[in-house]
Amino acid sequence: MSVDVRQGDKEGLDRERRYLRPVADYDWAAETHLAVYRWLPMFEAWATGPGICGKSTPQGPLPEGVTVTCYRCVDRRPKYERYLAPGYEPADDDPELLRQRAETADRQVLQAQALVAKWRQVAAERPGATVLVGVAADVLHATLGGLNDLLAEMGERNSR
Ligand SMILES: [Zn+2]
Repeated sequence: MSVDVRQGDKEGLDRERRYLRPVADYDWAAETHLAVYRWLPMFEAWATGPGICGKSTPQGPLPEGVTVTCYRCVDRRPKYERYLAPGYEPADDDPELLRQRAETADRQVLQAQALVAKWRQVAAERPGATVLVGVAADVLHATLGGLNDLLAEMGERNSR
């Protein structure tokens, strides 16, 4: 069976992206696996990698919609779909990095809250400074609201 190295172009795929496609198996008791399908500029060809379960597979994707029977590939599918989604950042899957970001955000919130309290105190003690400091405190307070939204979002990601 010959492999059409331009198949991805004919399907309208984006050469900058990578896709998950079903692939065949070398065994006669053929399982179907999932493999990363991508454009390889060095070879001027669309090509599939090994199965995402690690099994080597014949070159070329099967038609979209073919049922994947390898349970290891099926297990790994959600993870790979996230990896291959546009805009994916490796840090999104790094719990340690997420924890550090959350801690930094926590610290910033605490510092900002202390600052707001101090400014409000200053505003109360010095009538002449009331307007300026009061406005600054309000702006900071609104910013803190935004940061707290971010924390909620990160907490949700962590628990996924
Ligand atoms: Zn597999």
